[in-house]
Amino acid sequence: MAVRANPHLIEELEKYGAQDVVKCYHCGNCSATCPFSGGTYLFPRKSMRYLQMGLESRLRATLEPWLCYYCGECSDQCPREAEPGETMMSMRRWLTSRYDFTGISALFYRSWRAELIAIVVVALLTGIGLTIFGLTYGDLNVYDGEGAFLPAAAIHRFDWAMAIVLVILLGINCVRMWWFTVGGDRGVRVPLREYLKLAFLVPLHFFTQKRFRQCNEKRPWAVHLVLMFSYLTMLILIMFFLHYLQDGPAINWVAHGFGYAAALGLVGTAIYAVHGRIKKTETHYRHSHETDWIFLGLLALVSATGIIQHVLHRTGQPAAANVLYVAHMMGVVPMLVLEVPFSKWSHMAYRPLAMYLSALREKAVAVESAPADKRAAVAQTA
Ligand code: SF4
Ligand code: SF4
Repeated sequence: MAVRANPHLIEELEKYGAQDVVKCYHCGNCSATCPFSGGTYLFPRKSMRYLQMGLESRLRATLEPWLCYYCGECSDQCPREAEPGETMMSMRRWLTSRYDFTGISALFYRSWRAELIAIVVVALLTGIGLTIFGLTYGDLNVYDGEGAFLPAAAIHRFDWAMAIVLVILLGINCVRMWWFTVGGDRGVRVPLREYLKLAFLVPLHFFTQKRFRQCNEKRPWAVHLVLMFSYLTMLILIMFFLHYLQDGPAINWVAHGFGYAAALGLVGTAIYAVHGRIKKTETHYRHSHETDWIFLGLLALVSATGIIQHVLHRTGQPAAANVLYVAHMMGVVPMLVLEVPFSKWSHMAYRPLAMYLSALREKAVAVESAPADKRAAVAQTA
């Protein structure tokens, strides 16, 4: 089938952070260096080639950028300084915008001003809405229990409403990812039983990021895992145990113990990443897209306001704690409704899904390419 080329694809990807793609002369050093390149997935050279040739539909269908963990070894070994590691990162951003049916992701990645304006608007609406709600139904001087300014039950319903919207948005984007990479490819037929048999790969890679560990440098994997588990712990506490967190001012050590550990993880990883990006301590911190800074800024804002609000509540200053709670929610809501489905946090869903889809593709290709008399045997082992 004829493949249409997009002569502006490199310029397009440059808006997502790609740099020096034209310098690549296809020596293959990067693919030879990459610890994850092999079998049917040879990268990053192949993806660089798609990009240089403007093969947009092939690039949209590839899962390879998700198999890259940006260890940076390929960039360090590239004789042309074509930055293949950063190009793979920019492809992940670009693919995120292709999976997103709303076009919001593309808008944010191409214009940091648009993302910042959207964050400010959502933050202001949240702040105004919560303030009006609190002043109407509660008392600024009451933090929890009867007459509370922001009662746990109301915030809980608000959180769940947001979570449902998020799951729907992200779910649609995940289905689109499947369609672009596996479902819509007529050359790849995956039996239903394979979908079921390999479904365990999604939670496995989500919770362990085990492939990331194969990078020679283990620290980025550990940092990533701490960030992810801290975020998940906070999410679980907020979604299921909010009333334990809100009670007080006495400290509930079971609920708050997990909260402190998660806050420490979020603050620690945010400081580590900011320091790394400013000092360019590691290859994957050498280049920063504007969205990386927005992500870190929001993370710092949410963590700082959450900690201050907690201290104010525990030290018996309900009015100040309520004001900080509103400020905290002004960071949390944009982070959840804008960052999770449309920006960097969405990678938490796409990467494990890509591991699953790539395994499905690999099995299907093995069955298809085997001689007819061996196909049944391959299918059995697949
Ligand atoms: S990106 Fe660099 S290392 Fe990779 S093929 Fe191109 S020139 Fe060679
Ligand atoms: S950054 Fe690391 S994982 Fe990604 S393509 Fe390069 S060598 Fe492979």
